[in-house]
This record gives sequence, structure tokens and C-alpha cells, in this order.
Amino acid sequence: MRDDNCIFCKIAGGDIPSTTVYEDEQFRVFLDLSPAAKGHALVVPKEHFANLFEIDDEVLRDLIVVAKKVAIAIRDALGCEGMNIVQNNGPLAGQTVFHFHLHIIPRYADDGQNINWVPGTSDPETQVKIAEAIKGALKA
Ligand code: AMP
Ligand code: ZN
Repeated sequence: MRDDNCIFCKIAGGDIPSTTVYEDEQFRVFLDLSPAAKGHALVVPKEHFANLFEIDDEVLRDLIVVAKKVAIAIRDALGCEGMNIVQNNGPLAGQTVFHFHLHIIPRYADDGQNINWVPGTSDPETQVKIAEAIKGALKA
């Protein structure tokens, strides 16, 4: 299904031009317009899913294989020293385009990026409670 108001539906469907590096029946992979580093690419399903919570399982399985293939090509073509795979869900998590996409961000020694989080603290009792809550939700 397509959402007529969604820019990534339009890009994935070829109605809006993009710097495409890979395309098949299900996916388009194109370079991010505001790249975090040289070769920053977005893996986008042609079908509209808002986020990870909504994407179809089979589409997601196929998507990660495409992401791996393109990631290897980016590494080989551009000689990056590392790579971050980032996928944002919801505005609080930094999602700005509400059509599922996976960021492939090649990393270079001098890229000036810091894709990281501030480590927190934990205690065993709280961790067990959190794990129990998640396991309960998984069984539901
Ligand atoms: P996110 O913040 O995870 O939703 O990522 C959205 C990404 O889409 C950002 O990195 C934007 O730079 C990128 N973006 C938005 N519009 C376009 C576009 N027309 N072509 C390529 N990348 C885009
Ligand atoms: Zn869409």
C-alpha cells in the first residue's frame, strides 16, 4: 500500500528523483540528502509502513539482506572504517520521515560524527523486573 502524502512512497516509487544505488521490486536504496558521512544511504521498502512496529515480517527479513548487500558495496567502494546501522521510530527517537527506513552510515576516522548514547546505570533487581515485564508482553 502507498500513502499519497508520504515523500518516501514517492521516492521509492520513482515519482520523486533520488540518488538511487540499488532498486528491486520491493526496495529502493538511495543516498541521504543530508548525509552524516560520505555514502550515507537509506534502505526503503516500496510499500508504506510507518515504522518498525508496523512493518511486515517478510518485508523486514528481505530488507535486512538488501541492507547487508549494499553495506558491503559501500564499504568496498568508499573504504569506510566502520558503519552504523540506525533506525529511528517515533519523533522522540529522532524519526522525521514516517515511512520505515534503515540508515546505513559509513564511518571514517575524520567524519566528526558521534553516533552514541550516554551510558546509564542499572541494578540487578530493576533489571529483573524490566526483563519480566518484557517477557510477559512477549507471551501476550
Ligand atoms: P529519520 O530522521 O530517521 O526519519 O531520517 C530521515 C532521513 O531522510 C534524514 O536523514 C533526511 O536527511 C533524509 N531525507 C529527507 N528527505 C529526503 C530526500 N528527499 N532525499 C533523500 N533523503 C531525504
Ligand atoms: Zn510511505
